[in-house]
Amino acid sequence: MKKVLAEVLTIGDELLYGQTLDTNTQWIGEKLSELGIRIIRKVSVGDLREEILKALAEASGRADLILMTGGLGPTKDDITKKTLAEYFDTPLVMNLQALQEVKALFESRNRVLTPTNEKQAELPQSCTMISNTMGTAPGMWFDHQGKVFVSMPGIPYEMKAMMELSIIPKIKERFSLPVIYHRMIQTVGIGESWLSDMIETWELKLPSHIKLAYLPHAGKIRLRLTAFGNDYTTLEKEVDEQVKQLLPMIEKYVYGYGEITLEEAIGQLLVSQQKTVATAESCTGGYLAHTFTRIPGSSRYFQGGLVPYHNELKIHVLGVQRETIDSFGAVSEQAVREMAEQARKLLQADIGLASSGIAGPDGGTPEKPVGTVWIALSDGQQTYSRKLSLTRDRMINIEYTTVAILNLLRLTLIGFIDQED
Ligand code: AMP
Ligand code: MG
Repeated sequence: MKKVLAEVLTIGDELLYGQTLDTNTQWIGEKLSELGIRIIRKVSVGDLREEILKALAEASGRADLILMTGGLGPTKDDITKKTLAEYFDTPLVMNLQALQEVKALFESRNRVLTPTNEKQAELPQSCTMISNTMGTAPGMWFDHQGKVFVSMPGIPYEMKAMMELSIIPKIKERFSLPVIYHRMIQTVGIGESWLSDMIETWELKLPSHIKLAYLPHAGKIRLRLTAFGNDYTTLEKEVDEQVKQLLPMIEKYVYGYGEITLEEAIGQLLVSQQKTVATAESCTGGYLAHTFTRIPGSSRYFQGGLVPYHNELKIHVLGVQRETIDSFGAVSEQAVREMAEQARKLLQADIGLASSGIAGPDGGTPEKPVGTVWIALSDGQQTYSRKLSLTRDRMINIEYTTVAILNLLRLTLIGFIDQED
């Protein structure tokens, strides 16, 4: 099957002056690769007739599908529509459906249609009008000498709605595209390079139509397997087979499949084991409690949390012994273990979780530099503690610490904890 080649052309002076970040190309890129379409180039030009004409001519020489955004506003600086009419040598005419839609939009917003807005319903005669459900400027689809050109508004949410509702379905109809099958494997607690070393022999043996991508974020890595072919069921089976070979190598790190989050996966484990948790957070400042409570239904397992930031509160409210803090400091293994134990007892949970560290960017010492964090988990029988050596960035440290505590909890729940180093 011949691969469909695409080019993305974004139009607007603001993209070149650095006033607007071109997020449209990134989003479109993601969508097209999900469809199995290969993007061969992305180009940005200003609102200039000659530049737009040149870019169109060049793109048509190398791509089958040219997706454009920008320059469709009602103001004089936006010239994409009339430049397209010139390029395709077709007159601008009033499109009755577009006029009806723009009128209906104005009525629904209780506004009077101005002549400038009415002009937005004038389109190049040879195009197919694409409805804009989020705004006034319609999109345009041109099928010209075997190539497809699509023009969309620059405003990201208008462009996205148009792509999802009309353009992607039309692309699927117009081009014969490969069948693509994705499988996402969610991992936590291992760095990208370690993970890649661990699975190298398996990865090298992957057939050429199955690709592997590492998508890391804050202590977690999503592994995405993408298979290209002609038949969905065959691809699904092939990916199943590959996952079966992969899993034993990384079982300890896999917390779920698809789009599930770590906190959702842990929520499910807690519900099925009928266990509750409570938190005592210092350096994460409530971020861990927030991460738990973002999940609907978390009241079934999240008892509550304390944020005893000041040492006196760690002692008087949480019940950490003064001698522990005096002898070892609040950022210490001894203190964080007591914090976890006290959280469990005081908040009457099965499991207590705690964090204490130097989030930064200041406040470090030679023995305890910025990024030194202690975390602990107490389940009534055992207390586990871990030291993390993180970064100088406060938010990254808070996020990583939260993920590390959640992973400690996950490992305890699935019985993998003793194998932890
Ligand atoms: P326009 O369709 O040219 O009237 O664009 C309207 C607005 O959409 C601009 O003022 C930008 O804020 C935004 N915009 C245009 N192009 C892009 C792009 N490539 N990426 C993100 N935002 C954009
Ligand atoms: Mg513009």
